[in-house]
Amino acid sequence: MTRIFAGNWKMHLGPAAAAAFLDRFLQRYDGSADREVWFFAPAVSVMTVAETVRGRAGIRVGIQNVHWEEQGAFTGETSVRMAAEAGATAALVGHSERRHVFGETDAETGLKVRALLAGGLIPMLCVGERLEEREREETLDVVLRQLRVLDGLDADEIARVRVAYEPVWAIGTGRNASPEDAATVHAAIRAELVRLGMPVEAAQVLYGGSVKPDNVGSLVAQAEIDGVLVGGASLDPDSWQRIVAVSLD
Ligand code: PEP
Repeated sequence: MTRIFAGNWKMHLGPAAAAAFLDRFLQRYDGSADREVWFFAPAVSVMTVAETVRGRAGIRVGIQNVHWEEQGAFTGETSVRMAAEAGATAALVGHSERRHVFGETDAETGLKVRALLAGGLIPMLCVGERLEEREREETLDVVLRQLRVLDGLDADEIARVRVAYEPVWAIGTGRNASPEDAATVHAAIRAELVRLGMPVEAAQVLYGGSVKPDNVGSLVAQAEIDGVLVGGASLDPDSWQRIVAVSLD
């Protein structure tokens, strides 16, 4: 399976900084058939990123958030159609910052997944437990509840969804799930995706949470980990270059 190396730029890299980043990164990135590089750019930078990477194989451009309505009085929001028009072919949904900073609910996450699928974009659904939930040994309950938003999708739809397991306590903290712990959760997620109707070969589960150049190798060495979603370390072209160049042997 092709591995995905996805960068979530969060609220960093406006159009000028994004262009400068790509200028440096693309000079040294040749691409490779065994991996794809995805950029989840801020809404205002999506078009610049899409235009800059046009024609480069194995690179996908995504947006960090969309609204589920097609249009209307939703100040500050971006519709799926607008994101697509700017060049996005994927979007993050349910990122922990959306859930815990902006109060996004599972119900809203489900609406976004459906709007993205209807608009032809790939939803990357982020799931993960908070520290207190982990300490209460509720990790799998939380993650499986968050996946329930995929209930009722048809086979074609669910096959287009990607999932990122991001333990909330590992995001931006420098702490990681051990590769073995992450692999256990990934196996449970994969089993649930298959139960929901996803063909096993389509069930692609990424890990996210303080992934860095020096730990990415041990994560992607796990057969259960099909790629990584990276925040902080995706912002510097040199560290990103080292992450996406990791050996997959
Ligand atoms: C993220 O934003 O999805 C993330 C995993 O951030 P970081 O790599 O900085 O922990």
